[in-house]
Amino acid sequence: MDLASVTRFRTAAARADLHLAEGERLLAGGTWLFSEPQPEVSGLVDLTSLGWAPWEPLPGGGLRVAATCTIAQLLQAPWPSPELPRACADALLMSFKIQHAATVGGNLCLALPAGAMIALAAALAGEAVVWTPDGGERREPVTTFVRGPGLTSLTGGEVLRGVDLPGWALRAATASGRAALTTYGRSAALVIGRRDPDAIALTITASVPRPVVLMLPPAPSERTVRATVAEAGAEVGWYADPHGAPDWRAAQTGRLAVEVCEALS
Ligand SMILES: Cc1cc2nc3c(=O)[nH]c(=O)nc-3n(C[C@H](O)[C@H](O)[C@H](O)COP(=O)(O)OP(=O)(O)OC[C@H]3O[C@@H](n4cnc5c(N)ncnc54)[C@H](O)[C@@H]3O)c2cc1C
Repeated sequence: MDLASVTRFRTAAARADLHLAEGERLLAGGTWLFSEPQPEVSGLVDLTSLGWAPWEPLPGGGLRVAATCTIAQLLQAPWPSPELPRACADALLMSFKIQHAATVGGNLCLALPAGAMIALAAALAGEAVVWTPDGGERREPVTTFVRGPGLTSLTGGEVLRGVDLPGWALRAATASGRAALTTYGRSAALVIGRRDPDAIALTITASVPRPVVLMLPPAPSERTVRATVAEAGAEVGWYADPHGAPDWRAAQTGRLAVEVCEALS
């Protein structure tokens, strides 16, 4: 939609261009920004003109994914196993046109419970790399970067530069499961398991307000999985919106967690 309140547009060419004036907002793919009225926004600053490489290799076989990497570009990265990124991209249920515009950073900064790039990054032990307004940088696990629906740890003037995914997590075996009210509906529960040498790391998103990572033994019983998931959900609260009632989400999350653990045990 047209953003009728926007009267200024700048393309960022250098880091200094990211200092925002009153009313300005960072623009990445714009798939959310242009999807609803933004009456408080009077200017946009395009991040995509900074020319960040969509992804770069890190020592140890890891990947740095730029905040401006689109979902489509993400799928072209040299993943040791491409199944999980593919499943997470599909969980967003965007048309191919949207996938070519929507960015990983935009997904993380929106911090929606159904943000499948949040799920992917959390499940792969991702670390958010944040540019601070004083010219510095800080790092934080994605699991704490996203704090709740629409809420991140970003403070005034901070910009998400990217997400670092360590090589050991990229090489781990993973399994995932997703539930939605309708075939093409928004995710109501998304569960990802990662097999570590002595544990299964279970990441729960969409059914809870922020990503939750649970460490389970390598071959947990169904009872243990269900009890651990139920306890964690009760602690953070099961999410409620038109895409699923909390009790249904809790039941679906428990079922998916059991299936994911069985696949990895
Ligand atoms: C058909 C359709 C389906 C969708 N499905 C889902 C879904 O299932 N789950 C979901 O979570 N979302 C969904 N979305 C919402 C949204 O499109 C995605 O979350 C997308 O990844 C946002 O990325 P973007 O680059 O378009 O962000 P933009 O719209 O450009 O920006 C989103 C917000 O993040 C801020 N921002 C962007 N990049 C940065 C950065 N690097 N640093 C700091 N702030 C930044 C912007 O200022 C803005 O406030 C959907 C949208 C559409 C149109």
